Amino acid sequence: MENVVIIGSGPAGWAAAIYTARANLKPLVIEGDPYNDKNRIQGTLPLGQLNLTTEVENYPGFPAGNLAVYLDAAIQPDKRILMPPHSGHGVSGPELMELMRQQAVNFGARIISKDVLKVDFSKQPFKLTAANRAEEEIQDGTLETIEARTVIVATGARANYLGLPSEDRYKNRGVSACAVCDGALPRFKNKPLVVVGGGDSAVEEATYLTKFASNVFMVHRRDALRASKIMQQRALTNPKITMKWNSALDEVLGDDKHGVTGASLKSTQNGSTEKVDCTGVFLAIGHTPNTTFLDGQLELNDKGYVVWTTPARTYTSVDGVFAAGDVADDYYRQAITAAGTGCMAALDAERWLAHHGHL
Ligand code: NAP
Repeated sequence: MENVVIIGSGPAGWAAAIYTARANLKPLVIEGDPYNDKNRIQGTLPLGQLNLTTEVENYPGFPAGNLAVYLDAAIQPDKRILMPPHSGHGVSGPELMELMRQQAVNFGARIISKDVLKVDFSKQPFKLTAANRAEEEIQDGTLETIEARTVIVATGARANYLGLPSEDRYKNRGVSACAVCDGALPRFKNKPLVVVGGGDSAVEEATYLTKFASNVFMVHRRDALRASKIMQQRALTNPKITMKWNSALDEVLGDDKHGVTGASLKSTQNGSTEKVDCTGVFLAIGHTPNTTFLDGQLELNDKGYVVWTTPARTYTSVDGVFAAGDVADDYYRQAITAAGTGCMAALDAERWLAHHGHL
């Protein structure tokens, strides 16, 4: 019987693991299956969305500097050898995630590299079924059933992409779904950029990118923004933002040497195409929380995110199940806020265990 099982391995999961491990709760982290192709394709591999980004400049504690020696000393050699070379400037997303993972391991967190396929939260102890392959492919042996007194759900969300092959080809080389993560990279400085979408996120991304870009084209499939009025006004009055109404991204243009060099846009009205020169294409067409495995057992909001049932607590609709990070947050969606709520969930789980006489 586990005291605490943490599902997910982004900043929320590792923060929860570090706190519960230091509280002697011996947490078990189910980090996800690194070899499942479905995880690779949909962006749900272990270590979360940060592991899909390049430099991280806004996570406190990592000012510019060469971390190579520190990384060599801090991370176990078998993991370190698999990591891309350090850029010599601050910390990268994958480096930050390996550091968090290592910190949890150092305090005694145990890790299973499987996906959780099913949960049963209907009674205590909770039951979780984990495996290395898609359920329909499982023959034997890889299924594992785990019983837990408390569960912290920290499975995050994945950015929506359009699914174009060219989008995939240039991910991290000009195609991004996070302006705050990537906007300040040198390749975008004083260059034209494209943002796809018409909601608040798209306006926010476009506005943020105007700090770096020469100009930003907002590509939206209709002739009116979905964003709130105040955000609409922000986009429409910004001299560096040009609206491309009734337009869809048809293809990301580029080459192996330069990454993204342009975008082909298609009119949603008459099918005509036009080419726009740009060094970056940012997708802001929404996020999808990773909640399928919950199969309706936790209350979700109308956008599919886990509901925190009590203000300023990580409680969910099931007593003893807590949620942290982007799976329960469609608003801030930052590494630091995810780590913060991971810490909160750990403290909430610890208090739950104490209250029920398990500590
Ligand atoms: P959203 O409101 O769902 O908007 C998604 C946008 O992407 C819509 O304009 C939609 O077009 C477009 N889109 C979706 N699928 C597409 C596709 N396949 N091809 C082309 N375009 C597509 O998502 P969001 O902007 O991420 O916002 C999520 C929530 O967070 C909202 O409640 C928002 O208010 C909130 N938020 C608030 C702030 C803020 O207040 N500062 C900032 C960010 C987010 P259509 O309009 O045609 O459907």
